[in-house]
Amino acid sequence: MRYIDTHAHYNDEVYKDNLDIVFDEVRKANVDKVINVGYSLESSKESINLANKHNNVYCTIGIHPHDVKENVDELEKLYNENKGAKIVAIGEIGLDYAYVKDNKEEQIKSFIKQIKLAEKLGLPIVIHSRDASLDTYNVIKENVNEGAKLIFHCFAPTDDLVKLVLERKYFVAFGGNITYPRNSSFKKYIEMIPVEQMVIETDSPYLSPIPLRGKINNSSNLTYVCKKLAEYKNMDEQQLAKILYNNSISFFNLN
Ligand SMILES: [Zn+2]
Ligand SMILES: [Zn+2]
Repeated sequence: MRYIDTHAHYNDEVYKDNLDIVFDEVRKANVDKVINVGYSLESSKESINLANKHNNVYCTIGIHPHDVKENVDELEKLYNENKGAKIVAIGEIGLDYAYVKDNKEEQIKSFIKQIKLAEKLGLPIVIHSRDASLDTYNVIKENVNEGAKLIFHCFAPTDDLVKLVLERKYFVAFGGNITYPRNSSFKKYIEMIPVEQMVIETDSPYLSPIPLRGKINNSSNLTYVCKKLAEYKNMDEQQLAKILYNNSISFFNLN
């Protein structure tokens, strides 16, 4: 079995002193490729640096809703300055009302601006949506052209988002949170979404799957996510891993 981690943050300072050791462990766990995801101008730069330095690392650039004060024009500049780099998507972008709700308009504005940027650059979009399902649905419905490539990272299914995923054939990435007992309600949605629209991720260093919950996560733990998904999909794990691998390659255009 081979895996691709479609969403991780190895620029995080928890890896500062041991990244080589972690990457060794990741390789040994048959994780061939990792997409390092930006969430601010600084982390986007760091993601580009990681992708430049490591063969098996790709990157995305984007401004997360927690950093809406940052300038999207600067992000475009960063892209233009790094055209040869392995930038495979714009993200993670979206809406997050979990902690900050008093800047919804600003969040929506930054989100739309980055959707337009992705369209201009012809890149897929990586969505972060937390406690903001209805607004996420509306912004996407109104601002993303049909046929655009879009993926919901760390997907927390709701009726409206799943409807959108099915209608527009968007992708979803499942992470360690599908192993948490409180998320057993995901099962009915997972059964509805075709496996052709799925990939997996770790969101490292966050969201360690059970049985490693609370520890620093890394891509070698993808196997727990794949296993749980196979259980929910009632599929052979090897067969599922192969499909997810190929989906990741084609969605992000990896080579
Ligand atoms: Zn996120
Ligand atoms: Zn993330």
